[in-house]
Amino acid sequence: MDKSKLACLPSINDLMKQDKIKELITIHGQDVITMSARELLANKREHFLSGDDTVISNNKQENTAVLLNELEKAVSIKTKPSLQKVINATGTVLHTNLGRSNLSPLVMEHLTTIAGGYSNLEYDVANGKRGSRYDHLIEVVRELTGAEDALVVNNNAAAVLLVLDTLTKDKEVVVSRGELVEIGGSFRIPSVIEASGCYLKEVGTTNKTHLYDYEDAINENTGALLKVHTSNFKVVGFTDSVPGYDVCDLAKKHDIPYIEDLGSGLLVDLSKYGFSYEPTVMDVLKNGADVVTFSGDKILGGPQAGIIVGKKEYIERMKKNQLTRVLRVDKMVIASLEATMSLYRDQKQALEHIPTLQMLTMTKEESDTRATEYAKALNELGLGLTITKKEAFSQVGGGSYPGEEIPSVILSLTSDKLSTSQLEEKLRQVEVPVVARIKDNELILDVRTISEADFNYVVTAFKEILS
Ligand SMILES: *Cc1c(COP(=O)(O)O)cnc(C)c1O
Repeated sequence: MDKSKLACLPSINDLMKQDKIKELITIHGQDVITMSARELLANKREHFLSGDDTVISNNKQENTAVLLNELEKAVSIKTKPSLQKVINATGTVLHTNLGRSNLSPLVMEHLTTIAGGYSNLEYDVANGKRGSRYDHLIEVVRELTGAEDALVVNNNAAAVLLVLDTLTKDKEVVVSRGELVEIGGSFRIPSVIEASGCYLKEVGTTNKTHLYDYEDAINENTGALLKVHTSNFKVVGFTDSVPGYDVCDLAKKHDIPYIEDLGSGLLVDLSKYGFSYEPTVMDVLKNGADVVTFSGDKILGGPQAGIIVGKKEYIERMKKNQLTRVLRVDKMVIASLEATMSLYRDQKQALEHIPTLQMLTMTKEESDTRATEYAKALNELGLGLTITKKEAFSQVGGGSYPGEEIPSVILSLTSDKLSTSQLEEKLRQVEVPVVARIKDNELILDVRTISEADFNYVVTAFKEILS
């Protein structure tokens, strides 16, 4: 090996004098660039000395150019946030792995103002006194749902935990065996009941539970009757469950609280849009439920949160529970949840501006129009793609509306340059990754879950990987 070649590497001082470096320093700062340049040089030397003499050429200028290029790439990878934007082309609207609901641009505006500055989070501006962070949401929740009181915590799992911990500690909670669900891999009703220090009293069977099952289970140690929405599966065939209002009446008769874990918090009845009827938060409260819990980032279309609504006497007790402090939400959640719920004051406005509702209620014709636009733009690029429009189904996802599918028009693609699995993989490796799925060895692009503003990201991604 010709070790004299090492002299053709620029020194760190030479490197740091380059214009390109000065440019990178203004973006990333002196420390990051100096450290990365040192690492890169050391790396080159090490590779060279371990026997790979191709990493250095005999031309110092050429080596400098190569190093600058590699440095720029390395720094860009190093400083890129781990949490990054992706395009959801899967057609699953509430994709838990991809962050569930997207906030409305109208909500983002308010969120930006609140997140970037001081606010009256716990301050009563009118009286110059201390206030409560939970008060901000009460007005809009009351107005929309008719609930006496409300409390918001980290997520719906936390909400269920807090409700049970407050109301039923050391007592029995009666739940149908058909509703002992696991949601999202880590939320299991039996485990949450155990964690909150109460005892699970299972009644009925997996497929059938009757009112008398609940009635027979009630004794002097019963803390509550709990109904859990079976939000991510469906029991079909020979089945029977007791409607919430009947369980509720039974609870009233015995003077014990009736709690309903609704999962998705519907504030509009989506049966008008082709979905089967699911009770809204208002319906459940009207039927007399004492406490209802639901998620902020499922069909509601807001930030991750667990919303508890119901009787004031119960919610007051929850507010005094130490767990509430542990599970509390920050100003960003309160700002975005209040702004999202505010949009529901007018249903038309909610359907128009909340992305989750927009995507769920997009008609098949609309999805056809949008699929056609994508096909046209991609075909015009001449990338060797074979694009076919097909009728298919999008999914609600996020443990909502189990078994229900949304009729859509999707694009099915194959490439003459790449295999379908290469196509799928490369689409995930561009600057803004596009997550698509494969079916029958073709790449499926479901445009229902791609916002209009993201059209160019998709087109650019294909251009980048195929030209
Ligand atoms: C989704 C869901 C939960 C968990 O809600 P998170 O907000 O994800 O914590 C609990 N119960 C039911 C019935 C659900 O559908």
